[in-house]
Amino acid sequence: MPVRVAVNGYGTIGKRVADAVAKQPDMTLVGVTKTRPSFEARSAVERGYRLFVAGGGSVDEFRAAGLPVAGTLDELLAESDVVVDATPDHVGEQHRAQYAAAKVAAVFQGGEPADVAEASFNALANYAVGRGKRRLRVVSCNTTGIVRAAAVLRERYGVTGWEATLVRRAADPAESKKGLMNGIVPTFQFPSHHGPDARTIFPDLPIATVALVVPTTLMHVHVNHVRLARPPASGAEVVEAFRSTPRFHLFRSWEHVDGTPQVMEYARDRGHGRSDMMENVLWETGIRLDGSDLHFFQAIHQESIVVPESIDAIRAMFDLAPDAATSIARTDRALGLTR
Ligand code: NAD
Repeated sequence: MPVRVAVNGYGTIGKRVADAVAKQPDMTLVGVTKTRPSFEARSAVERGYRLFVAGGGSVDEFRAAGLPVAGTLDELLAESDVVVDATPDHVGEQHRAQYAAAKVAAVFQGGEPADVAEASFNALANYAVGRGKRRLRVVSCNTTGIVRAAAVLRERYGVTGWEATLVRRAADPAESKKGLMNGIVPTFQFPSHHGPDARTIFPDLPIATVALVVPTTLMHVHVNHVRLARPPASGAEVVEAFRSTPRFHLFRSWEHVDGTPQVMEYARDRGHGRSDMMENVLWETGIRLDGSDLHFFQAIHQESIVVPESIDAIRAMFDLAPDAATSIARTDRALGLTR
């Protein structure tokens, strides 16, 4: 029997998770929630998703807009085994008791505090930790990018130190209220919250992060300097280590991908839903090994990188796959991420 999945919060992350769940052979999307009628509510209906009302929304308001409503969040939960909470930051934790009362497992997102769940989760990094848990938290987009890279480097070479500068997008493309600024804004947090967040997955990761915000809506870029305990034989070996790992996409120099504009253009050409780029994006020319010092750039498509992780979190919780590699392969095949 497929695991029955609800998605509460149908925004940037929620709508992508809903699409991803609908593509998995071992999961069924029971429905999604909206708080009020909107173009997104309409598009959920057009995709054939059952729409439920949450967050104090009114069923009558949806009906007046001509949008069919299948019920309330409580009714959605009653039909589900697990809910993926993709409500705004800190709204998810307010739902925790409701999910527990409905006896549904819950996958939270990175905008929630770590203690909202029994564990923070990333498929490459700590899949086994998710086994049998009732509440997991998929770490944020930036942290997901960091811990995926850490999973590659720690295992092969050991990491003795890591400084990362995170150049963050100012807002998501649809966030017209937040908007862009004409400037570069340092966050003045030493470290930024990303390093400590990465340690919710790898408690001993010696990473220090700082962040600044720049006027773009698509993708973050991380500038990394990692000191390795066991130096690789060559930079080419590191390139191959990343390239051979699922959820990494490396561009070669002849592809002339100068930066995030071409990455996003490639994503549009590739034609996956919503032009998403769920992989860590690295450039071969942006990886340099100097003895045991590794420097690399990576770009993170903030709207989509956590989507496959949310799927694997469900699979880990319900023990639907024997190991991380099997779950990742199954997710990625369904999402068209396999090369
Ligand atoms: P969003 O604002 O795009 O979407 C949130 C949705 O939840 C909206 O549709 C909103 O109407 C709805 N909502 C608001 N209150 C609700 C309630 N009480 N009940 C049900 N629905 C409600 O937010 P998002 O960017 O998708 O972020 C969701 C979570 O994912 C956050 O924890 C965020 O930190 C995390 N996240 C976001 C990004 C990103 O870059 N957007 C990346 C990774 C993780």
